[in-house]
Amino acid sequence: MPQSQIFAFAPVPQATLPIEGTDQLFPVHRVYCVGRNYAEHAREMGHDPNREPPFFFQKNPGNLRSDGIFPMPPLSSDVQFEIELAVCLSEGGDDIPVARALECVFGYAVALDMTRRDLQGEAKKLGRPWEVGKAFEGSAPCSAIRRASEIGHPASGLITLDQNGARRQSGDLSQMIWSVPEQIAYLSQLFTLRPGDVILTGTPAGVGRVAPGDRLSGEVEKVGRLDVEVL
Ligand code: MN
Repeated sequence: MPQSQIFAFAPVPQATLPIEGTDQLFPVHRVYCVGRNYAEHAREMGHDPNREPPFFFQKNPGNLRSDGIFPMPPLSSDVQFEIELAVCLSEGGDDIPVARALECVFGYAVALDMTRRDLQGEAKKLGRPWEVGKAFEGSAPCSAIRRASEIGHPASGLITLDQNGARRQSGDLSQMIWSVPEQIAYLSQLFTLRPGDVILTGTPAGVGRVAPGDRLSGEVEKVGRLDVEVL
């Protein structure tokens, strides 16, 4: 049956991410993000990680972008970078035990959780949702995915962000308050996880403001590198 007989109008194309070393694409279902998953970053944002555990918010699948470009979004004068490990699932389910969680992981990528910090701050103050600060167009630049079958499941390793050649963020994956398996298990209690889900696992300390012309280089040991030009 031709598509015109199914849909009232042409659907927006499926969001995808490239997979390193193959022409195949990873079809993105949902994008979950962890807030305050590194203690030092929680503190720099004015929170006590001992009293306020990490939590989740979402971006839209179409917010992912892997062409190395970040166009400055409108209506913000404080757009900030947050370098993060992205976990890409090829299996899902409900109530996934921590011990089986890594079986759901297809691979890993390097991503930026770009944030309109001024709009997010206003939303926090007013007790409103975070979408305006977090889920805007192009807000999640992402590298190609490295398959877990090739690189394994990195539980430690350096995670860094350089802005115009200067080191701004530096941490280690082992500093996550909730580990990757714990995040998957916890999320699967709240939502039905599906193949194609992507989890941005939180950012270490050192987040900062970007300006047009900036070059951002993120790196996660054993996973890869993400180079982004701010336009
Ligand atoms: Mn983040």
